[in-house]
Amino acid sequence: MPFPSWGESQEGQSMLKEAVEQLDRAASLLGLDPNLADRLRYPKRALVVTVPVRMDDGRVVSFTGNRVHHNLTLGPGKGGIRYAPTVSLEETTALAMWMTWKCALMNIPFGGAKGGVCCDAPRMSRRELQALTRRYTSEIFMLIGPEKDIPAPDMYTNEQTMSWIMDTYSMQVGYSVPGVVTGKPVSVGGSLGRREATGVGLCNLVFASLLLIGLDPGKATAVVQGFGNVGSVAALELWKRKVRVIAVSDVDGGAYDPKGIDMEAMILHTEAGGKVSGFPGVKPVSNMELLEIPCDILVPAATAGQITKENASRIRCRILAEGANGPTTLEADEILQGKGVFIIPDILGNAGGVTASYFEWVQDTQKFFWDLPEIQRQLSRIMLRAFDEVLALSKEKGVSHRMAALMIGISRVAEAMRFRGLYP
Ligand code: NAD
Repeated sequence: MPFPSWGESQEGQSMLKEAVEQLDRAASLLGLDPNLADRLRYPKRALVVTVPVRMDDGRVVSFTGNRVHHNLTLGPGKGGIRYAPTVSLEETTALAMWMTWKCALMNIPFGGAKGGVCCDAPRMSRRELQALTRRYTSEIFMLIGPEKDIPAPDMYTNEQTMSWIMDTYSMQVGYSVPGVVTGKPVSVGGSLGRREATGVGLCNLVFASLLLIGLDPGKATAVVQGFGNVGSVAALELWKRKVRVIAVSDVDGGAYDPKGIDMEAMILHTEAGGKVSGFPGVKPVSNMELLEIPCDILVPAATAGQITKENASRIRCRILAEGANGPTTLEADEILQGKGVFIIPDILGNAGGVTASYFEWVQDTQKFFWDLPEIQRQLSRIMLRAFDEVLALSKEKGVSHRMAALMIGISRVAEAMRFRGLYP
């Protein structure tokens, strides 16, 4: 039997290195007090848990999970839960750090958190996933709560996972607590528009960018990597708004058709269990080939570290709209900037999810629910305000959009930390 691992991984180490490098660069541009900058490099707390699950074949498998609070200065922790084989303490810590900057950038009163379980969720049965989720929730119970830390969906978790977390937490305390998670179905206290918010929010910024660079959406082409909650919604929204979506992919590979692919039909195909690359009439491409297809809008909406110094020079898009967290390394970012690519960085581009999650939490707390037009109006207002702030700072300081977004987020957290002082 292998020795139990706390989930160290090469990918996780690179992500954390990247996140800390981003912080260091932004802190230096801001001239941040080194004592504060140093505190921000470390998570406030991290919990590693073992999640034993009886599998359908009778074996009991011990999975490793974690929950990390990076910084809670601005409010309760907020961040998704990921069920993937890449999950490690380093990966979760990097993702939690990005959540801190993202919430601050959007001016949402939450800190940064993240969690996950190292497992191969698509291969597990519904019963196994429910057992895993309920035990994981019990193990991290001491950290979560509507005023402490509010999880949400991320890779390979969804509305069903959130319902099980809400139910497990509620059973432990003895009454229903919808505000302990967001991304729930509407029937258990979820918010209208939450499921689509990340993809739709990203598309709103893509359209604002098209306007700025003077590109007619009706003549634009798009390529989307990842066809889950973020990617499929973004691709459908672009397609509905007359952009020609020429390639999409899932973990097994991509589908390419220069004439454009019908996204409604593609969604029906994948909902029926089909792989993206098996869609009729398309040319199958690998995920790496897909990123290099010439297009106007490239949307990485899968996983981190996809655009690096190795492939950045071969990427031919006008707008890079980041749905995934950490898809582009800093080195690649510089190469793309040199090529004049308009970048919508992750903590801005995919912030529609956490913004709608904030609305869900507010509605759960107030026990007063909003209609969809109100949610869409507030989402668009908050995202466009952050977009304008990032562009203005980027212009004023002569820095990239990514650095500007990080500088805004980091400076807001740092200012609050300065006022609150160092305990004790
Ligand atoms: P998901 O589980 O719903 O979908 C993930 C998709 O990516 C699937 O189609 C999967 O097949 C594909 N994929 C997985 N690994 C891949 C790989 N190596 N190459 C290509 N495709 C791959 O997940 P999601 O919620 O859509 O999240 C996608 C990304 O967006 C993640 O980076 C996540 O952190 C980020 N994100 C999600 C939300 C949200 O609200 N769900 C919010 C902000 C950011």
